[in-house]
Order: sequence, then structure tokens, then C-alpha cells
Amino acid sequence: MIDSHGRTIRDLRISITDRCNFRCVYCMEPDVRFAPPETLLTVDEIVRVASIAESLGVRKVRLTGGEPTLHPRLTDIIAGLDVATDVEVALITNASLLSRDALGAWKSAGLARLTISIDSLRPERFARLTRSSSSPVQVLKGVEMSLDEGLSPVKLNAVLIRGFNDDEAVELAALARTFGVEMRFIEYMPLDSAHAWDSSKWVSAAETRAAIERVFPLTACDDDEPSSTARTFRFADLPNDSSARVGFIAPVSTPFCGACSRLRITADGKVRPCLFSTTEWDLRSPLRAGATDQELANFLIDATWTKQPGHGITSHGFVQPERPMSAIGG
Ligand code: SAM
Ligand code: SF4
Repeated sequence: MIDSHGRTIRDLRISITDRCNFRCVYCMEPDVRFAPPETLLTVDEIVRVASIAESLGVRKVRLTGGEPTLHPRLTDIIAGLDVATDVEVALITNASLLSRDALGAWKSAGLARLTISIDSLRPERFARLTRSSSSPVQVLKGVEMSLDEGLSPVKLNAVLIRGFNDDEAVELAALARTFGVEMRFIEYMPLDSAHAWDSSKWVSAAETRAAIERVFPLTACDDDEPSSTARTFRFADLPNDSSARVGFIAPVSTPFCGACSRLRITADGKVRPCLFSTTEWDLRSPLRAGATDQELANFLIDATWTKQPGHGITSHGFVQPERPMSAIGG
């Protein structure tokens, strides 16, 4: 699949549920309204769409949400993708519901990669940020269990918000050293359901990196893939082959739209060529009206063609999408 700006789609992000047990301040409002269950894609529909996307060049599928581990048939989805496709299957989670049994089942079913979000190591702040009764201890236990289960690589994600958790950059970066994983800092994007984003709460990747470098000098890695969202760094005091890394995902300060290889499908079956798309393509209707694989493939090709050149967050006249990250699938 190629868009009208010459970019090739290789990565598909499928939101398998819009539900979540957290209400992170930068993502979901406490009184969020969820889509009616019958509008959500079924396991078979998810697998079919992924398989068609694979025939069009997709190589990696990331299951997201909402919180994908809330899906009662997550293992079936992973297994279905494993049987029907050769794509690499990745999962992103808040890690609050992980167990050794579940991780083992997902790995056996074919899960290749795991990303875990953790924005604060301070219990009271974590609870306020996620508006949940979960704790960072639980998430860190999830990281440990995932590594024990042999899931590799495990990556960690954090969003820093000025005046909330931006003083934790160094402590969070230190997790990379503790666990031997990549800790990635994502710039806060205007994708919150409260539409409360403003530049005064935003912390640039450069500022975060400078804070980390005051304690842990970093060296740029030279093996980032061109379409990768993250620019990664090694810790200068650790051996070159250490798996501990820090990554910066800077969609606001350093947009990577020119090399974007992603397409998104929402839990209710809408294709979003860009995270910031203001128009969606309703794939669920033809899917449920008996469309053939070829017709659905043409649908995906047409939707991809309309992918906008960039998100324009910092441009005058930027319009925040109606749907928050939790409904789009981050
Ligand atoms: N619930 C899972 C989780 O939190 O990892 C998966 C879905 S969540 C929408 C995926 C990622 O999007 C998380 O790492 C989260 O931090 C990030 N995210 C959500 N809202 C964001 C925003 N406004 N700006 C930047 N990242 C955001
Ligand atoms: Fe839920 Fe993830 Fe959004 Fe937090 S970021 S509210 S865990 S979907």
C-alpha cells in the first residue's frame, strides 16, 4: 500500500477495544462513553483485516486500545494472527493486568514484542495520573514477568507533562538500566479527550534528553530504522552491546511524518490513515456486508492513498481530532 506522497505502509495498529481500566489524564476522561459492543470488530474480523493488510505489504501488527489486555479473547486474536499471517505481532499495555499465565499464553500463541507504559514511579502520583487504584509496583512486576517469560524486546513508554511528572525523567530513564530495556519518552500530543493539551504542559524531547544527560551521558545509536518513530541512545558508561537504551519519540518537535509507515484501525472498524486524521474510512460496513477480500483490499488501498502529508500540530489552524488516543489506538 502506497499513499499519494510515496510512503509505503508496513505497520498496522489495530485497536481491539476502546475500553480501559485507567483514565490517564492525557488520554481519557473519567466519564468517557464507550462504543456499543456490537460495533467492535470481532476476533475473526480483526484476523481477516490483518491478513488482507499483510497481502498488501504490512509486516507488523501492533494490538492496542484502550487497554488490549481487557479483551476477553486476546489470546485468540494473537493465535489467529499467528496462524493466518506471518506478520510480527506486538502488544502495548498499561501492564496492570499482567500475569505469568497470560504472558505465557500470549507468547505461546505467537506474541513477539511487548511495550509497557509507565509514566511515574511515585505511587500517589501514578494513581492521580492514571486515575486508577493500580500502582507502579504492579507495572514494574509486569515488566519483570514479561522479561522472565522471554518476551523480547520489552520496551517502556512514558509521557511527561510539565508540572505533573516531568521531574521523573532521570528516574524513568534509570529503569532502562535496571531492566536492560529501552525506555522511550513520547512527547505529549493533543490527543486527550479533554482537549486540555496546551504547549505550556508539553515537554520537548530535547529538554527531556538534556535532563537525563545531566546524570547519564548518552550516545546516539546508528541503527534506528528510517521509519522508526524513536531516536535511540545508548548510555555512554555502559558497553556498546548493552540492551539498556533511551528513546525519544518527538512527534511535536520533530515530526517524522515523511517516513511514516503506519495505518490505524479503530476498535469499531474505522481506518485512520493518520493518528491526526479528521476523516475516517468505515471498513466495518463493507466487512459486514459481505465484501470480498479483493474489495476490502481495494478499500484499504484507497484509504491509504488519502494519508495526509503531516499532522500539522504546530501549524496555524490545526484541528485536534474528535477521538482521543484511547479510541484511535495509540
Ligand atoms: N492502554 C495501553 C497503554 O496505555 O499502553 C495502550 C493504549 S495507549 C492509547 C498507547 C500509548 O499511547 C501509551 O503509551 C500512552 O502513553 C500513549 N498516549 C495516550 N495519549 C497520549 C497523548 N495525548 N500524547 C502522547 N501519548 C499518548
Ligand atoms: Fe488507558 Fe492507555 Fe489511555 Fe491510559 S493511555 S487511559 S492506559 S488507553
